[in-house]
Amino acid sequence: MNPRFHSILTLLAAPILFLALPAQAALHVFACEPEWGALAQELGGKLVDVSVATNALQDPHQIQAKPSLIVRARNADLIACTGAELEIGWLPVLLQQSGNAKVQPGQPGNFAAADYVRKLEIPSQVDRSQGDVHASGNPHIQTDPRNIALVATALAARFAQLDPTHADDYAKLQASFAQRWLQAIGRWTAEAAPLRGTPVVSQHKAFAYLYNWLGLKEVAVLEPKPGVEPTASHLQEVLEALKNTPAKMVIYAAYQDPRPSEWLSSHAGIPAVKVPFTVGGTDGAKDLFGLFDDTVARLLAARPRP
Ligand SMILES: [Zn+2]
Repeated sequence: MNPRFHSILTLLAAPILFLALPAQAALHVFACEPEWGALAQELGGKLVDVSVATNALQDPHQIQAKPSLIVRARNADLIACTGAELEIGWLPVLLQQSGNAKVQPGQPGNFAAADYVRKLEIPSQVDRSQGDVHASGNPHIQTDPRNIALVATALAARFAQLDPTHADDYAKLQASFAQRWLQAIGRWTAEAAPLRGTPVVSQHKAFAYLYNWLGLKEVAVLEPKPGVEPTASHLQEVLEALKNTPAKMVIYAAYQDPRPSEWLSSHAGIPAVKVPFTVGGTDGAKDLFGLFDDTVARLLAARPRP
């Protein structure tokens, strides 16, 4: 071949190869819930591609292990889930069917966020007749931003373990996130101070960590047992109980049917507050920062004025 012609071809081909490289993510992450998908994106930037199994309007306890999810789990380098038995009804099947050895429990490609925080509501004995009780404690850890900070440190370390070539990049992204996140926690905590001590009713036991963080007091739960839909008779009992132990608001997650909370709201004369619960649960909860901006704003807006 004419050497000049060859060098022209090389010149033409070079930019194409160069452009093709950055599109190849170093890590394929499969997140069970939107909050861990959002966190993986914060900590991985362009080095990761993230696929999220559920959206904010789905109940994360009850997902079908559909073929499309199995295919996504098959191609993952890392699965990032809550753990603490939240996904016990679907994730084990999904992992088994994926045939992906890298992401099985005990492997570095299997990350359970709840392993890195102190769990609340650990039952002294597990009795399944008490409903969908989680033996390893309340799994809804993402409602306290301090937990997100702990999980972020662990997840960034896991990225570096799985992809050591980019360890420095992951450390930088984590440091940047941690700095912005700690600042935001300070702001949210200060803004939410007037909520401290407020007695509230929950539709599902979904907010133990939120209440622990902000000092809210859960005086009743609309589900008769965790995961069991509120019944008319149980709602009446809660309404009766509130006469002696009044509450200031009833709180439910965006994925839940609002009717039980709305019923209590109209009968007890207290506001029903929808909180996003995860990224995407409300228009304001566009990312992890928005999740807590909006949660705090909604609780403050429902607070009775002195
Ligand atoms: Zn639950």
